[in-house]
Amino acid sequence: MVRALFPGSFDPIHFGHVDIASRAARLFDEVVVGVYDRPLKTLMFSPEERMALVIESFRKQKNVRVMGYNGLTVNFCKQIDAQVIVRGLRVFSDFEFEFRMALANARLSPGIESVVFITREEHTFLSSSSVREIAILGGDVSSMVPAHVSAALKEKIAEIGDQQSNPFGIRI
Ligand code: ADP
Repeated sequence: MVRALFPGSFDPIHFGHVDIASRAARLFDEVVVGVYDRPLKTLMFSPEERMALVIESFRKQKNVRVMGYNGLTVNFCKQIDAQVIVRGLRVFSDFEFEFRMALANARLSPGIESVVFITREEHTFLSSSSVREIAILGGDVSSMVPAHVSAALKEKIAEIGDQQSNPFGIRI
């Protein structure tokens, strides 16, 4: 039984993430999507909101589970008995970051393998930050995220507007 962890912030989850987790779920017995709950950056959605959006995205996929975590990813892997860390690669500039992280994780925990999936061509430009930026500026994100994420973005942006806070105060 091979369990893989797909870790990330998922702020919010988009079709690029869904595709990577779904492809990993065909290769491994179980995929745990790990929603990192204390990233060092300002996020648009709370950990609970991000978790709920991810859970809804994989509702129909039997071997995909969603869990929140904090701390070192390799420690979480040991906790849930995951032997593999799954990541996605979009463009060449992702490579250095993923490469460094895979090497650091291998140093910390040599038994855990990093497996990197190359994005599908149509998802190359997709990132959570571009989704947030397009949504904040009123663009249509329906081809980039599942419908429930689109709705959550609309709601969140309206909430921010109601609070009269500066939308650009959000890291986009
Ligand atoms: P983090 O919070 O670790 O910066 P994200 O939550 O944005 O990362 O993404 C988690 C993982 O999904 C990363 O490995 C990232 O490279 C990958 N990913 C993000 N967008 C895409 C995409 N469009 N296609 C393939 N992989 C992607």
